[in-house]
Amino acid sequence: MELTDINVIKRILGRHGFSFSKSLGQNFLIDPTVCPRMAEMGGAKEGTGVIEIGPGLGVLTVELAKRADKVVTVELDTRLIPVLAETLDGYRNVEVINADVLKTDLHKLIDDNFQGKSVNVCANLPYYITSPILMYLLESRLPVENITVMVQKEAADRLCAQVGSRESGAITVAVNYYAETEVLFGVERECFTPSPNVDSSVIRLRVRKEPPVKVNDEEFFFKMVKAAFSQRRKTAANGISSGLGISKDKVGEALTLSGLSPTVRAEALTMEELAVLSDNLLKVR
Ligand code: SAM
Repeated sequence: MELTDINVIKRILGRHGFSFSKSLGQNFLIDPTVCPRMAEMGGAKEGTGVIEIGPGLGVLTVELAKRADKVVTVELDTRLIPVLAETLDGYRNVEVINADVLKTDLHKLIDDNFQGKSVNVCANLPYYITSPILMYLLESRLPVENITVMVQKEAADRLCAQVGSRESGAITVAVNYYAETEVLFGVERECFTPSPNVDSSVIRLRVRKEPPVKVNDEEFFFKMVKAAFSQRRKTAANGISSGLGISKDKVGEALTLSGLSPTVRAEALTMEELAVLSDNLLKVR
């Protein structure tokens, strides 16, 4: 069954009386070259297991199933379960779970399905929850090697920006703390049905064994980063002071102690500088 053929898609969906849900981020891939590339670059091969999020009609699922030992795919939309039973018929190494990925115990999923295998995540993400999904995957500290996902192009640029560059944001710092990031390739809006009004990019996050910096209090570090970036047109000190309720004097003291200018902007700070600043803030506050 050619799942990137628009006529095949129309026939299957028509038979199941399915209509696309915009609120679930349902834009299905119709370009035949994208999924094989994603599966290859995502590391799906013999000896590996793959977690997929949001299979839709299963267009990426089948490419993963052809290459990896096993694929477990999590789809929230119950209406797609009978559709997937049909499109994935014959792929005995695929398990479909009807659930919200953000409420799924992925450690258990890995233990139950991928004992002794190297595990990757590969998905064309629902864009409305790109950051929550990525942070859920990373903060859970799952034993996975790579997370290869399609996201909106602007999100890809932000996620894969260098920390300390103008394009960086709190999410850049958070993701870079857990993974090395890279943009693999772009995907135009015409490659989907229905065609969204944004372009996309496939990115790969290589999960780090150790964070790139050591901080005394991880939770405080992330709170500080969020606060520092919260007022983009203002200084990091302003954001930190109002976001964390620490006086401007104390924030200034921590910045000086860290060898940083009191007027520095969050996007100019490197990972190391942010780490030192968060440790010093904890000392002086
Ligand atoms: N993989 C398919 C493709 O590439 O054509 C579909 C991708 S579509 C962009 C996103 C998919 O994620 C949809 O099937 C949608 O129903 C599903 N989805 C949305 N929110 C979800 C959630 N919280 N958990 C799991 N799946 C979700």
